[in-house]
Amino acid sequence: MKKCGDCKKEKGAKERVYTFKKCMVKPGAKVDLDAIDTKETYGWTKRRARVQTGRNLERIAELQEQLYVEKKRGLLIVLQAMDTGGKDGTIRTLGKALNPAGTRVATFKKPTDEEQEHHFLWRIIKQLPKAGEVVIFNRSHYEDVGVVRVHDLVPEEEVRARYDEINAFEEKLAQGAADIPEGTHVLKFFLHISKKEQLARFRDRLDDPAKQWKLSENDFKERQHWDEYMEVYSRALSKCSTDDAPWFVVPADNKWMRDLVISQVVVDYLEALSMKPPAPTVDVKDIRKKYFNDVARRPQNPPPPENPPRHRPPRQGFGLR
Ligand code: AMP
Ligand code: MG
Repeated sequence: MKKCGDCKKEKGAKERVYTFKKCMVKPGAKVDLDAIDTKETYGWTKRRARVQTGRNLERIAELQEQLYVEKKRGLLIVLQAMDTGGKDGTIRTLGKALNPAGTRVATFKKPTDEEQEHHFLWRIIKQLPKAGEVVIFNRSHYEDVGVVRVHDLVPEEEVRARYDEINAFEEKLAQGAADIPEGTHVLKFFLHISKKEQLARFRDRLDDPAKQWKLSENDFKERQHWDEYMEVYSRALSKCSTDDAPWFVVPADNKWMRDLVISQVVVDYLEALSMKPPAPTVDVKDIRKKYFNDVARRPQNPPPPENPPRHRPPRQGFGLR
């Protein structure tokens, strides 16, 4: 994306002001996830938060349309969390606002044999947004500096080099290319829940037959490594939060707070881009003239149709009977 000379602001863009600035990891700051309250509400109540989230979703819908018609940039939303942290719930919430025509969700599991044979960013690059698109990553390249360290799947030195590779990769995304001139904007959210909250959510899954399919042996195994996960994520967030691709630590024990923070950050970010609709490809004056000519030609009292339409009862339930 085009930056003006000595400042980090995009040309023509507004000053970016985050309502939840406290959640943003300042570039270069050291994060200690253990010291961050997963229940923080910043004075919001559930009722007010839900109302504001509703407003944010309406605004996201408008802004996404601008992004889509403008077709100059992409938005990549990265979600990382411990199991039950709320990645799926966040996708459902954002999905209420996003037009599916311009949205994709990419989920990253344990790499397949084919993926293992490639560079760790290979499968990530394949899923990047095209111009005008919003893509949500359910897990991401941050697994390649997270879980791989916890289980010692990749040596520490290699992971250390990966932080630099990721920063260079995300910086390049922001710079753009011929097919995406204003670049790919990256917003990264770590949904921060407590170990206790995770246990409560496992309990919900156990007790609710509709959620039992989500249970996995692996979740309990990973839970044993909680402290190591907090450590590797703290390191990744400290090393890889940049102006181009900031990390946000979202207090996620309360789902309403999680939805509020994420929807607000997305609105704040997109608003600051000051997107403009593209210039019309037709002569609007000429089309306007044609329109009014057509209106003037319409008979004021059209004659009744020869075969009046039969009365039909109103449709119910999306027209399904
Ligand atoms: P889930 O999202 O619960 O279906 O679990 C997906 C699993 O895949 C998680 O345990 C992730 O840590 C794991 N996973 C994702 N990416 C990688 C990766 N690059 N290397 C190893 N494991 C991964
Ligand atoms: Mg899981």
